[in-house]
Amino acid sequence: MNNKCDLIYEGKAKKIFSHDDEDKVIIEFKDDATAFNALKKAKFEGKGRLNCLISTRIFELLMKNNIPNHFIRLKNENTIIAKKIKVIPLEIVLRNTAYGSLCKQTTIKPGTLLAKPLIDIYLKNDELNDPLITRDRIELMNILESRDLDFIIDLTLKINIILKKFFKNIQLQLVDFKLEFGYDLNSKILLGDEISPDNCRLWDLNQKDDIIVSLDKDRFRNDLGGLIEAYSEINRRINDFI
Ligand code: UDP
Repeated sequence: MNNKCDLIYEGKAKKIFSHDDEDKVIIEFKDDATAFNALKKAKFEGKGRLNCLISTRIFELLMKNNIPNHFIRLKNENTIIAKKIKVIPLEIVLRNTAYGSLCKQTTIKPGTLLAKPLIDIYLKNDELNDPLITRDRIELMNILESRDLDFIIDLTLKINIILKKFFKNIQLQLVDFKLEFGYDLNSKILLGDEISPDNCRLWDLNQKDDIIVSLDKDRFRNDLGGLIEAYSEINRRINDFI
């Protein structure tokens, strides 16, 4: 029962296995890290476990707040059981503070607090380098119906309110994050993927000066070192708080 079955898909940071139940999958978090569309690669021992544990706590929080999502339960420290979904090929990024690609593509200065959350949508396509996409292009490509896109955007804004408050409680500034959604077997939209320092920017608020201390994948992207220490610190703060 519930033995690891066939490998259905292997992504950059996770492996997806089939489950005995048709409507479920087993997701294993890997230690691999990639950045800049996998041009930069490395392995960090223990990253998979930390992301799995952090993501589990966050999905449990979202569950309590009635956000429809794929998470079912933790199987072991780097594996979860989730509902099977057909992933919508869009990456929904919400930004509270300007950083990363927003500052490379506009004249907005890094660290600027945004007056309201900004939602940037990217097409999930490695060959095209995940381009920024417009609502009209999404419609043109028949990726999803307009009302489903509205639903996803609305859900992302709700998730932001929950996460911002949660992270502030543990002295972290939620700069931005990326979400993915999918359809379950009943065509219901669910939040999928993971929520971890791999796809959120989290800055330490326990700093005397205004210096930015990233406790997220920017430690790898920008060669800052101490990635496992940063992820462990987030995991520790979450567990001390809950
Ligand atoms: N992000 C992600 N996967 C991607 C691109 C971005 O999880 O393929 C996350 C990233 O960790 C950050 C947010 O989305 O929390 C915004 O990233 P940005 O567009 O600034 O891109 P980057 O600077 O990472 O190239």
